[in-house]
Amino acid sequence: MGKLLGETESLCPVCLKRIPARKVADNGKVYLEKTCPEHGESKVLIWRQDARHYLDWAKGSEKGSGPLHSFTAVDKGCPYDCGLCPEHWTRACTMVMEVTLRCNLKCPVCFASADKNKEHEPDIEVIRGMYEAIMEGVGACTIQLSGGEPTVRDDLPQIAALGREAGFNHILINTNGLRIAREPDYLRRLKDAGASAIYLQFDGVTDDVYRYTRGRNLFDIKRQALDNCTREKIGVILVPTIIPGVNDHQLGDIVRFAKSRIPTVKGIHFQPISYLGRYPHPPSDEDRITIPDVIRALESQTEGELKWQDFLPRHAQDSHCAFSSFFILTEEGKLQAISNLARGRVTGWGSCTEPPPEESSRRFMSRHWRLNESHCPSCNAGDFYDRLLNYYLTITCMPFQDVWSVDIDRLRGCCGHVVTPDRRIIPFCAYYLTNTSGERLYSTPLLVGNKVGQGK
Ligand SMILES: [Zn+2]
Repeated sequence: MGKLLGETESLCPVCLKRIPARKVADNGKVYLEKTCPEHGESKVLIWRQDARHYLDWAKGSEKGSGPLHSFTAVDKGCPYDCGLCPEHWTRACTMVMEVTLRCNLKCPVCFASADKNKEHEPDIEVIRGMYEAIMEGVGACTIQLSGGEPTVRDDLPQIAALGREAGFNHILINTNGLRIAREPDYLRRLKDAGASAIYLQFDGVTDDVYRYTRGRNLFDIKRQALDNCTREKIGVILVPTIIPGVNDHQLGDIVRFAKSRIPTVKGIHFQPISYLGRYPHPPSDEDRITIPDVIRALESQTEGELKWQDFLPRHAQDSHCAFSSFFILTEEGKLQAISNLARGRVTGWGSCTEPPPEESSRRFMSRHWRLNESHCPSCNAGDFYDRLLNYYLTITCMPFQDVWSVDIDRLRGCCGHVVTPDRRIIPFCAYYLTNTSGERLYSTPLLVGNKVGQGK
């Protein structure tokens, strides 16, 4: 019997009913415990570090401001009314827009469960409506054009341009890199249309990792995609999905690789795996990677170049959703942390305090996740301000919740959302959530031309 740290609500992994849950410290770790009257108990590891660290991580976090406009009313309660409903705590930092369900890979690991047979996709008019819904619901956040694989659409540049016209100045392309590696012209068209940066799936630095996560060798393709981005002067964020026993030993290698590609690479965004789809048995503790695990691995696998204290909790509640950090690449080739400065958090500086939660995340991404084209490496690369503006690396991490780990309070503070073709806004972790039989809490809207119906 562990020590109770807090109470919340969660979902039954089998029937998806909302049930009470307890956060409990046990044996130097933190767990989420819950019991469905019908389907029994579940206990999942959520923090591989002690209670004090778990509680300290939340110090100074604040609730964000709710949606500007709610498209759904409170009816059955969280998480069944997402749209967003008026009880949501934050306004969205990032908005995922699925522009297709098609993909040019068949990955064993896929959030979006992309499927080649689902060929219906939103047309330009539906997409225009989705941009309008975002602006009305949460305002100008970061947009991630996603899928499936968004680059299978020839009109993706037009979709990016439409977003810029609609008032979004930070548009990321969520891609596996296949097409931009092969077709530099397509990449140039994306950039010219207003895409701000490439959000590149990047699971590791050896092909055995890609064979496991994506079903084929891809490392050369990733390097080619990066070469093309360097040539076209568009920034890249490397996005590794971290899986225990597959690539959790490569976090240091990924950092070293990213360093070698600065200033094209602006950041690494680690995503510890979450368990979606059919899983008849709950994942074990060994299948889990928590935030402290990622920090510990970054520290040890870089021989202390990155340090535990360089990584800051997310400002918005729930802070247990993410960390962020910011490093300058020194002339000696070392990463030097200035995480506090980059977040605009200067303590003991009178009125200069951190901006409101979702605003600080939006600014962080918009400022740092793009390439500054005005710099001239030959004339001022040694200058401190040039290094601050160009030779840096952000390292961030966001573990998504699954049906075992889902915490309704965390979900209520979720600031990564998905916009649907029928103009709703749904937190990422609710949108992709499945029960043990693989059934989704929110079914994928099925798109036929510009008519929108409900799938499933
Ligand atoms: Zn149940």
